[in-house]
Amino acid sequence: MTVGADGRRSTLAFALGLARHPARPRRWAVGAYVEGLAGMRPRGEMHIRPGHYLGLSPLPGGITNVCLVTADRARLADPSGALDDVLRRDPQLRDRATAVRRISPVTALGPLAVDVSGTGLPGLVLAGDAAGFVDPMTGDGLRLALHGAWLAAGAVLAELETPGVEAWRRLAAARRQAFARKLRVNRLLRGMVARPTVVRVGAIGVRLVRACCAVSLASPGDEAFARRWSTS
Ligand SMILES: Cc1cc2nc3c(=O)[nH]c(=O)nc-3n(C[C@H](O)[C@H](O)[C@H](O)COP(=O)(O)OP(=O)(O)OC[C@H]3O[C@@H](n4cnc5c(N)ncnc54)[C@H](O)[C@@H]3O)c2cc1C
Repeated sequence: MTVGADGRRSTLAFALGLARHPARPRRWAVGAYVEGLAGMRPRGEMHIRPGHYLGLSPLPGGITNVCLVTADRARLADPSGALDDVLRRDPQLRDRATAVRRISPVTALGPLAVDVSGTGLPGLVLAGDAAGFVDPMTGDGLRLALHGAWLAAGAVLAELETPGVEAWRRLAAARRQAFARKLRVNRLLRGMVARPTVVRVGAIGVRLVRACCAVSLASPGDEAFARRWSTS
C-alpha cells in the first residue's frame, strides 16, 4: 500500500487526476513572521475584509505569524509591500502595527484551493492535505489533516487485516461520515468571504448579534471536537 501524504500540491494526486485547482475561488497567500504587533492575545485573530482576509497567529516571544490571503494576484508582484500595506492601512490594525518589524522572509503561494475528487486508487490512499485542502480562513487545516491521516491508517489496516473492500473505498466512506457536514460549512464561508457585499453586511450583523456569530463560528473552529478530545 502507498500512502500519499505529500501535501496540498500532492504530486501523486495531481498526476493521477485525483486533484485539480478549481477555476474558483482563486486566492493567494502571503505570509511572514513579525515582532512588535501590539495587542496580541493567546488566541489567533482572523480579520475578514472585502477582497482579502488576514490571519494573525501569536507565537512565543512576542512573535506573530501574519498571513494575508487575497484574490488579487497583482499583489504578489510585491509580497512584502502587500503585507506592510494591509497592516498599515487596516482601520482595526494600523494603530497596533506602528512598531511592527518583519523578522523573516515573506513567503507567497497559491492558488490555494484544491478540489480532490477521490481519496485514492487500488493500492493507494491519500492522507492529510493531499486528500483535500480547506481554505485556511477557518484555521482547522492541521486538525483535518491529522484526522484524515488517522482515518487513512485505519482504512489501510482494515484492508490488510480483512481484504475485500479496498482501503481507498473505506477511506472515502469514513471521510464522508467524518467531514461532509463540516466541509459544507467551510465551503459556504469560503464563498461568503469572496463576496465584498456579503462581508460588509456580515460586519454589520456581527455588531448587532455577536452571540449568533459565536455559535456559527464554533463549527468551523472545531470547538465540539476539541472538547470531546480533551475530555476523552
Ligand atoms: C497559507 C496557509 C495558511 C494555513 N493556516 C493554517 C492555520 O492557521 N491553522 C491550521 O490548522 N492549518 C493551516 N493551514 C493548513 C495546514 O498547513 C495544512 O493543513 C497542514 O500543513 C497539512 O499537513 P500535511 O502533512 O498534509 O501537508 P504538508 O504540511 O504540506 O506536508 C507535506 C510534506 O510532504 C513533503 N513532500 C511533498 N512532495 C514530496 C515528495 N515527492 N517526496 C517527499 N516529500 C514530499 C513536503 O515537503 C512536506 O513536508 C494553512 C495552510 C496554508 C497554505
